Amino acid sequence: MSLPRNLWMYWLAFGAAAIGGYFLLPQNTGPANVYYNTVAVLTPVLIVVGIRLHRPAKARLWYLLAAGQGIWAVGDIVYGVNRFVLDRNPWPSESDAVYVLGYPVMAAALLVLIRGRTTGRDRAGLIDASIIATGLTLLVWVFIMRETMAADDTVLGRLTSMAYPIGDVALLALLARLVIAPGARTGSYRLLVSSLLVLLVVDILYTYVTIVGVYEGGLIDLGWLSSYVLCAASALHPSMRSLSETAPERAERLTARRAILLTATTLLAPVILIEQGLVADDIAWEAVSACAIILFLLVLARMFGLVSQVQDQAEQLDALAHNDALTGVPNRRAWDLELARRMANARRAGTEIVVAILDLDHFKRFNDRYGHQAGDRLLKEAAAAWRAQLRDTDLLARYGGEEFGVCITGMSATAAARLLERVLAATPLGQTFSGGVAAWTGDEAPERLVARADAALYEAKNAGRARVMVHDGRSVSAPVGFEVPAG
Ligand code: GH3
Ligand code: MG
Ligand code: MG
Repeated sequence: MSLPRNLWMYWLAFGAAAIGGYFLLPQNTGPANVYYNTVAVLTPVLIVVGIRLHRPAKARLWYLLAAGQGIWAVGDIVYGVNRFVLDRNPWPSESDAVYVLGYPVMAAALLVLIRGRTTGRDRAGLIDASIIATGLTLLVWVFIMRETMAADDTVLGRLTSMAYPIGDVALLALLARLVIAPGARTGSYRLLVSSLLVLLVVDILYTYVTIVGVYEGGLIDLGWLSSYVLCAASALHPSMRSLSETAPERAERLTARRAILLTATTLLAPVILIEQGLVADDIAWEAVSACAIILFLLVLARMFGLVSQVQDQAEQLDALAHNDALTGVPNRRAWDLELARRMANARRAGTEIVVAILDLDHFKRFNDRYGHQAGDRLLKEAAAAWRAQLRDTDLLARYGGEEFGVCITGMSATAAARLLERVLAATPLGQTFSGGVAAWTGDEAPERLVARADAALYEAKNAGRARVMVHDGRSVSAPVGFEVPAG
């Protein structure tokens, strides 16, 4: 148990005690304010301590975070000086200018973090985060921003009261993107996400409280203090070193949690519209309809992405199901389908169809002599060599084992046998095959046609192999003019 490794734990325990101690002090007094500001100032200091301690390879995120938290701590001090030293509480005040300045810095920190953790190819994650951000923006707009806008009479006041929710919503959108992105949920990650979540919820609560009443500290101060403590703990946690590391590419899965989150935020638009229709005097129809359109488009974009992904996978699956893994040519399943299709076409067009079955000669012997892997290689090379001799429109399929089927259209059986002689000569590694050819009668079933080609193949084997024989409907013979090879 070394101190540096566990500093974050000690700090969390100390922070919890410090927050408890804060509420023992009389609230809304100078001393309580100084106490609060001490915790605030400690946060950026401890983030820098974390950087020195753990020496992350990518320190930019942490310096930006320290800067953002530091700016907010300065805002706290300016507020305290105004209120408790100068005894003034203007709106908007100098402290508001400082606070608002902190938002872009915090946003930059989150952007650096997100860019570090994602590969930039997670389109679905981007859309999901946009859906969540749009729904929440609508919520904040209708119930917070519209109200604060109406409450302020000066332009500067209005701008300031708008700046806070805009900053919070922007950070919320980035936080949604961060949470949706893949990556390790380390201790440092959880502490930082908790810190930001608490901050944003309390910020929005604060704005709401200032609309309906007066800010008096209490729960809101508890939230802000917790956010500071958690943020510093995140930088002190040893896993801070790997926080901006890119997650390994993984197959995307829609988790139940994300599905619920997306459903809930997508339904925010209609639910807010119902609420407005039931109770509001001035229905926020412009914002609701604009966000509803954006949400629809985002959901559609997500859907199109999923559909095209499914289509791609279906194509890949189809290729897997219809091609032989070893030789890459169509398999038996594809052969059966394609033969039936070609027969239907030929019946309509009246074209000729010839089927041939090729069987490697003495393949068992080849396997025994050179090994099974060499046998595999022969099958692969033979299929490629035969394929090269055939026309693109001719079908070559692995029928099974060392047997291949060929389907040739628009050619007589004799012409097809001639073509197969050239195919035979192209067989690699000095090997041969025997082939049986049969021309389709125009009305026989595919099984019958293949059976006749098989019968011709059987005769070719019997006649001494390395030759092509034709089944003409009644008997099997060598093609006209075929020179019977010697041996
Ligand atoms: P024939 O000339 O009478 O056709 O003799 P053959 O040895 O070629 O015929 P047989 O049917 O006796 O043996 C076929 C062999 O093909 C047996 C089997 O191990 C082998 N075989 C079938 N599929 C594959 C394969 O995918 N890879 C390899 N290497 N061998 C295979
Ligand atoms: Mg064989
Ligand atoms: Mg065989």
